[in-house]
Amino acid sequence: MTKKKTTKKAIRKEIYVIAIMFAMVFIAMIVYLSYYVKEGAKDFIYNSYNSRFSAFSDDVTRGSIYTGDGHIIAKTSYDDSKQEIRVYPDERLFSHAVGYVDQGMAGLEAYYSFDLLKSHISLKDQINNNLSGKKSPGDDLYTTFDYETQVAAYEGMGMYDGAVIAIEPSTGKVVAMVSKPDYDPNTIATYWDDINSESNNKSVLLNRATQGAYPPGSTFKIVTTIAYLRANDGNSDFSYNCNGSLKVGDFTIHCSSNKSHGSENLLKAFSNSCNSAFAYMGINLDKDEFSETAEELLFNDTLPTQIEATKASNFSLENSDEKLVGQTSIGQGNTTVSPLHMCMLVSAIANDGELMEPYYADKLVSAEGDIVSQTDEKSYGQIMSDSEVDLLNEYMEAVVMDGTADSVDFGDLKVYGKTGTAEYTTNKSMTHSWFVGYAIDNTGKELAIAVIMEGAGYGSKHAAPLAAKVFNAYFQ
Ligand SMILES: [Zn+2]
Repeated sequence: MTKKKTTKKAIRKEIYVIAIMFAMVFIAMIVYLSYYVKEGAKDFIYNSYNSRFSAFSDDVTRGSIYTGDGHIIAKTSYDDSKQEIRVYPDERLFSHAVGYVDQGMAGLEAYYSFDLLKSHISLKDQINNNLSGKKSPGDDLYTTFDYETQVAAYEGMGMYDGAVIAIEPSTGKVVAMVSKPDYDPNTIATYWDDINSESNNKSVLLNRATQGAYPPGSTFKIVTTIAYLRANDGNSDFSYNCNGSLKVGDFTIHCSSNKSHGSENLLKAFSNSCNSAFAYMGINLDKDEFSETAEELLFNDTLPTQIEATKASNFSLENSDEKLVGQTSIGQGNTTVSPLHMCMLVSAIANDGELMEPYYADKLVSAEGDIVSQTDEKSYGQIMSDSEVDLLNEYMEAVVMDGTADSVDFGDLKVYGKTGTAEYTTNKSMTHSWFVGYAIDNTGKELAIAVIMEGAGYGSKHAAPLAAKVFNAYFQ
């Protein structure tokens, strides 16, 4: 009897434990499902290689994508057999920004797929559409791009590979973003194999504006200058006598064309883009302090931006000998940047040291014209002090007035900039052409820009004149 009782008790206990386990599994499933519905579904759709998810839906017609000034850059249309297709009227013009929906998804098409397939027309109309077997129109995405500015940036790149990104400093709005080589999103499925073939080693799908990892060359002197100022409590006293090169052990760092710049202060060294002076300056900085400044300027970290899939820039002086520190100080050693990052730095200079987080998706609007959601401008905070900004403005103005970019015609605009000519192979005659800076017109409107043209040569000859074209298109 006692034994039987104990067994019964044990069984009851077992049932009780199993019941609790079932309940826990059940709760876990509910939690997971509700999480999935809220968050996971979006990730699932964002995953560009998820072939199970279609760009089109049975109930909603995928919404359109527009520039900020109302130019349509992606829309849903129909092929001969009345099947929905996605059409990009400007073909390659916005390729990396807008992305594609065939062969998985990329760009804004991928990140906003979930939203473009949602309809926010009135519930009554949605139900009516549903009952009559019609699809409801999906929400439209308005970007921050300015059509003519994008055209100028795109056409200005000409035959070169590289990137242009232009940002409104006071808001963080991305006004233009070009990456080349590019693709036509209308025909990407047809050319997919070719684009991804081993013989095509140009990384066509890579958005160089946000994911490119380039040697910054002399545009990095902006960072070295700030590191110098921070190491000297903001004091800009500096003097250097340039004879065209600097010997570091058995290695020689040359100024461009071996030009002797003579006696220079910080302003002159910056506007002449004197490699010897900046290598000397960097070598004499405390490595930890230099690294700290680079990190305060967003190196080695995720960039604070609302643009998806951006790449962190890197900077390291660890295990660097003097020769390498000297090279890194002029943007040639242990550092790479994305054009987006360089544009963010000059954008902060233009905006009195305050960095506004870049974004390119402005708002979602229902087919009935109601704003469904809008991106808020977001400040990352001050990344430079007032006195640093004042000095950099002075130096960057000197670059354009009587420095390396003085031959560039910027018209009536006030322009502040830095050129760069970055070596990327051991062949010193192969160089990327850089320009970073910003322009302001007589109404106070501003635009920051970063331009890199791969293998094009001097920054002053190619990238700076392209920046001038983009400024002209934006301010006209
Ligand atoms: Zn020099």
